[in-house]
Amino acid sequence: MALCKISVSVLKQLHFSTLCLEQKIELKLLRPTPLLNLIQVTKCKTRDFKRKFKSDLCEKCSWICGCESTNRLFCFPCLLLAKQNGDSSWVSYGVADLSHLTQKIKKHECSQSHLNSILEFNLLGKVDVRQQLDIAFRSNVKRHNEKVTKNRYVLTKIIDCILFCGAFELALRGHDEREDLLNTGVFRGPINFSAELDSSLKDHLTSATIFKGTSKEIQHDLLDCMLTVCQNHIKGEISEASFVSVIADETTDVIINLPIGCRFRYVLSNGQPVERFWGFTNPTGNDAKYLNSSIAECIQASLEKVVAKPEKLISQSYDGTNVMSDQHAGVQSSFINGVQAFIQ
Ligand SMILES: [Zn+2]
Repeated sequence: MALCKISVSVLKQLHFSTLCLEQKIELKLLRPTPLLNLIQVTKCKTRDFKRKFKSDLCEKCSWICGCESTNRLFCFPCLLLAKQNGDSSWVSYGVADLSHLTQKIKKHECSQSHLNSILEFNLLGKVDVRQQLDIAFRSNVKRHNEKVTKNRYVLTKIIDCILFCGAFELALRGHDEREDLLNTGVFRGPINFSAELDSSLKDHLTSATIFKGTSKEIQHDLLDCMLTVCQNHIKGEISEASFVSVIADETTDVIINLPIGCRFRYVLSNGQPVERFWGFTNPTGNDAKYLNSSIAECIQASLEKVVAKPEKLISQSYDGTNVMSDQHAGVQSSFINGVQAFIQ
């Protein structure tokens, strides 16, 4: 579309709504205001009145445009924006009646379609909806990112407190965790201490309504996440190691279960031998025979998560009791049978 030489006949054919914003803004500045050769002679009884089109009309009325070929006046905004429902005399046929021009101008200026066109025409290019939406979208993204950064910072501090408890083998929770108590448990201690040193953590703990991060459930979730990260690291190391050894040891917890602690020994790619704790599993069963096979299954389940190739397993070791290490009826024999099945 050549916008440098726009005329009313071109504007009549133009589908303004299909243009892009840049073209619309460019077209807005190209109102055709040629010097029309429009002369009207009105005969009266005494003498004839000769009216001639004056070019200053286009300066007085910022919306009027002229058609050189038909010598008629049109409404520029209505031609662009109200071709279908606009005033047909100003959009389709054009106005050439100079004797009633003032009345026609006033009438058109008050019509609803013209007012709508003028409003839309004047706003064109000044309020870019896409730009406004873009700004709002960017602002939302920025706010969201700031919130995420703040939440991650708070979570990091809480994880640091959990790591602190783990490093000194301290139980996370006390018997009573109410905030008004003087002795609120080991975990609350470093949290409160960190909050005294860190104003953003203190703000979070005092103002957070949904996620404070200090509840029992969150502590468990964080411990599970940390265990998953550690286990993924161990998996990566074992996948590069040539051989692996499993160590199982039973212990008792406060509710007299018999969790089995499982560890792996292997050699890192740099030649350094390491022993890594994998996790606890809870075997089921009470009598010795059933318990043995259950323990073996638990160890085997842990092993399957880590060792893709069973032939990598070169040794197994247990706590020295008969139940665990008896080569005929203990876990050792159950485990060997299980591993053989695993290999097959
Ligand atoms: Zn108009």
